[in-house]
Amino acid sequence: MTEKEYDFQINRSEEEWKEILDEETYRITRQCGTEPPFSGKYNDHKEDGIYVCAACGSDLFDSQTKYDSGSGWPSFTDAVDENRVATREDRSLGRVRTEILCATCGAHLGHVFPDGPPPTGMRFCINSAALDFKARQER
Ligand code: FE
Repeated sequence: MTEKEYDFQINRSEEEWKEILDEETYRITRQCGTEPPFSGKYNDHKEDGIYVCAACGSDLFDSQTKYDSGSGWPSFTDAVDENRVATREDRSLGRVRTEILCATCGAHLGHVFPDGPPPTGMRFCINSAALDFKARQER
């Protein structure tokens, strides 16, 4: 994970993102939105494969790191590669959280919390609408 000056490879205007993304994905990825808990299409999804960024298609999370956190959002113990995600301090809602972004396009994905299971002890709490799923055998 990198916390630094961001240098996203994909930089689109808000107008372009609005055209490309569906309304819910735009709201979450470009406006730091959150889907209601237990509402997202991948919360209870258990297939074998890779979750990619809904905005740019970059590989983000492996289903082998997905677990049921009970939070109502897809939860992972790690990213496929630390360079695929970026972090940013989020002081909204009167608390300090660590926001997770797609390191390729800057999409807001969710937050990471230090209350996950082994091996990392981390919980990447991600909005379904920020993800697409690719089954492993189709890759
Ligand atoms: Fe992305």
